[in-house]
Amino acid sequence: MELLREMMRLQHERGCLTEESLCEISKVRRVPLYRLEELVSFYPSFRRTPPPKFAVHVCRDVSCAMRGCNALSERLRVAASSRSDVEIHEVSCLGRCELAPAVEINEVPLGEANSLSDVEAFLSGARPLPENEPTSAPRAWKCDPYVRRHGEPTTVPAPPEGGEGTDTAYSTVRRLAADTNSLAETCIERLSAAGLRGMGGAGFPTGRKWQLVRGETEPTKYVICNADESEPGTFKDRVILEELPHLVIEGMVLAGLTIGAERGIVYIRHEYGRERKALEAALKEARQRGILGADASGSGQPFDIEIFVSPGGYILGEETALLEALEDKRGEPRNKPPYPGTYGLWGKPTLINNVETYALATSIVNRGADWWREQGRGEVAGLKFVSVSGDVASPGVYEIPLGMPVSELIELAGGLPDGQHLQAFLPGGASSNFLPASAVDTSLDFDSMKAAGSMLGTGAVIVISDRHNLFDLATNIVTFFRNESCGKCVPCRMGSQQAVSILESVQSGSATTESLDILPELGETLEQTSICGLGQVALNPILSLMRNVPGSVPR
Ligand code: SF4
Repeated sequence: MELLREMMRLQHERGCLTEESLCEISKVRRVPLYRLEELVSFYPSFRRTPPPKFAVHVCRDVSCAMRGCNALSERLRVAASSRSDVEIHEVSCLGRCELAPAVEINEVPLGEANSLSDVEAFLSGARPLPENEPTSAPRAWKCDPYVRRHGEPTTVPAPPEGGEGTDTAYSTVRRLAADTNSLAETCIERLSAAGLRGMGGAGFPTGRKWQLVRGETEPTKYVICNADESEPGTFKDRVILEELPHLVIEGMVLAGLTIGAERGIVYIRHEYGRERKALEAALKEARQRGILGADASGSGQPFDIEIFVSPGGYILGEETALLEALEDKRGEPRNKPPYPGTYGLWGKPTLINNVETYALATSIVNRGADWWREQGRGEVAGLKFVSVSGDVASPGVYEIPLGMPVSELIELAGGLPDGQHLQAFLPGGASSNFLPASAVDTSLDFDSMKAAGSMLGTGAVIVISDRHNLFDLATNIVTFFRNESCGKCVPCRMGSQQAVSILESVQSGSATTESLDILPELGETLEQTSICGLGQVALNPILSLMRNVPGSVPR
């Protein structure tokens, strides 16, 4: 952790990591240069040459592709062609898909000011760059049990009848912390009874995970919050970090006291500068209030949380790749088993959940499993934060009852623009399978999505109207996985490249559509032989299109 932190600090100070900077780190830290080269060449945020005055990053992934990012990049390139102080880079998902096409200048997100004329105004100095500070006024979220947060009046509604919430943030852990055995039993019992599943994509039962790590006898354990959501279409954790950081912190403290850990780490993507600042402010306040520290929440036990900023790369959202990065290595996924719960950070038992899971865990421990079950629709329990992007009038993050049909969510997000009709959708981010318009009444929950041939995944719904070419969008997503493959295993590294070559050849007309026939077999090979989820799903976009929306694939 300290080595990568030091490298990022020096780059921040000096603009890049020159040969001299690396030699300096090597000497001071007594680390061979080849180890530093290994890291610099792996993580995309490191640069070896001095930065230009303006580094413009334009997202090239699916939600932004639907909103004209390719044309914008091209026009920016032309506009900046005579300037040596501007670099235009097309980059992977920036996590701001509701404002597509997402653009950053010098790591400052431009938000809605992302047109060609806006960007030109920033580059000419006619307009100052926006402040990179938390911006959104916290909204009232149903999962927040507190009527006040950070000691200030808010519009958050009071807990429902029968709820156990009191009126200040962290009162749940404060009430339980005096007896940590009882706290652990309460947390595990409520999370298990509620049936909360991990909200990062895999859906592992949360109560069981906490129980398994608690059962490990090794005295040193860690709690990690995965705040590295980077899948195209996914940006809900960003909003939770900015608007509900106290619920995430409290969930981590409850987890730490449950499993017997003294140290928690939030692993956050480097593009989330504003959200990191919101979290830092909340952590500072939690320390001042005694929630974190030597006597965390009055438990008599130490627990504190630190932030680690990722040096970049989608694959770092994979839990074992994230652990490798924290150990100052290249972020390549480990073979599993062993799982992090038994052999995690520095070989110690480690509990890893994502941002949303910790926030919802706080809510459930406060209000109980019955309350949680009442929040869902029909037989399905609970709430879910979903990111909606693509062809809807009001893309953004919505907190919905699990079990809500996709059609209702689309209406909630303002419906499709006038004159456009639904063609297909991705219900769970770029790695979920395409579903056709005819499946729009499918409920957003783990089992219904699986039965329909896709998955709830990260809860990122990308709505696609009939004005788009689905084959191009599927090619865009497979290309994303090719770009983000860490290269550790041959099937993923070579197979994803082979798939992109085939798809691009068919797109350009230099290959016949019969070349697509090999893709199911290639996809099966990747699925069976890749180490991690990226390789296993890399061809899903095109294979699911061939299966579920066959008319959209050239034949
Ligand atoms: Fe890396 Fe791909 Fe192998 Fe995953 S499947 S470890 S991303 S090469």
